[in-house]
Amino acid sequence: MVSSVVKSVSPSATISLINKENALKAAGKKVISFSLGEPDFTTPIQILDYASEKMREGYTHYTQSPGIPELRKKIAEKFSIEKNVKIDDKSVLVTPTKFALYASYLALLDPGDEILIPDPGWVSYIEMAHLVGAKPVYYKLDEKRNFSLDQEDIKNRIGEKTKAIVINSPNNPTGSVLSNEDLKFLRDIVRDRKITVISDEIYEKLVFEGKHESFLNDFTLLENSIIVSGFSKSHAMTGLRIGYMISSEEMIKYVDRIQQHTMTCAATYSQYAALKALDDDSSPEKMKMEYRKRRDVLVEGLKEIPIFKINPPQATFYMYPEIDYKGMDSMEFSNYLLEKLYISVVPGIAFGPSGKYRIRISFSTGIENIKEGIERLKNLK
Ligand code: GLU
Repeated sequence: MVSSVVKSVSPSATISLINKENALKAAGKKVISFSLGEPDFTTPIQILDYASEKMREGYTHYTQSPGIPELRKKIAEKFSIEKNVKIDDKSVLVTPTKFALYASYLALLDPGDEILIPDPGWVSYIEMAHLVGAKPVYYKLDEKRNFSLDQEDIKNRIGEKTKAIVINSPNNPTGSVLSNEDLKFLRDIVRDRKITVISDEIYEKLVFEGKHESFLNDFTLLENSIIVSGFSKSHAMTGLRIGYMISSEEMIKYVDRIQQHTMTCAATYSQYAALKALDDDSSPEKMKMEYRKRRDVLVEGLKEIPIFKINPPQATFYMYPEIDYKGMDSMEFSNYLLEKLYISVVPGIAFGPSGKYRIRISFSTGIENIKEGIERLKNLK
């Protein structure tokens, strides 16, 4: 009954863990959840008020397929100012961020084409390639140098069939940020080899030290860049499913065809919420400061537990420690934590082969939970 393509795709490790955790919670267990990367903050009230007002005013119908013109314009203006590169509204398409990624794969890749994806990298980059019949090829992030690029490895993996490279800075699951030197290296590759970079910048507002640098820092790169970002992490709006893609006007036209035949347009309510969110820079800043505190508590706590070897994250709300516990691999260890300590984490292997002895800990949960989690982890002898 089911197509071979869909059969080849694994469930999302991050999403499917929710079910497992909920089953334990339903059985009365106090589970400490370090698994899903979902902000625990409430969506800022003025964003919700504005979106609700617009609904009551009757804005509950379709919008133009690439997004409300006012919103596209505002995204373009804000991006231009923040990233210091001039783009206009025709380079913007409004859609949920995950769909923006999938639509970029659809727009760029023919069956058999190769796409380079980071190892470690977010769980869906690989499966989206399978969904469009393309071949994902891992490139290494160098764990010894805080997960920066292994430039030689990338050069070696680019071949005749390589159409695109996915980058994700700040990175999920490591919390690392690509250096300006690495970004420059990638920009040079794009110019020389006519490959497109798909840059997932969803964690851009969660850089603890320094400022986020977009891959797109020069208008001439637009032809070979697809930038995706959104409001889920910056404004705690995961359930509103709203984000955007920035690329050349031509690419946006093609992606809009995909949107017209699949989504029609992003949800109208969510688009108005996004419009309001663009006026709110203080909530992301406050949330970031809170995540930074949590990071520090977690770093200090895990330092005391010898089975973990940590790289303190520079950004995001993820930490990606190495584990050394009775020879268990990431899968065995994650199951053990859930069953014995009621702590849920994501096994590193879900983020690529280099994660065999790592776990991802999401600290998008309150300090009290983090402290309790650390106390429980101290029992691992
Ligand atoms: N990106 C978040 C995570 O890695 C949310 C879940 C998902 O989309 O995979 O946990």
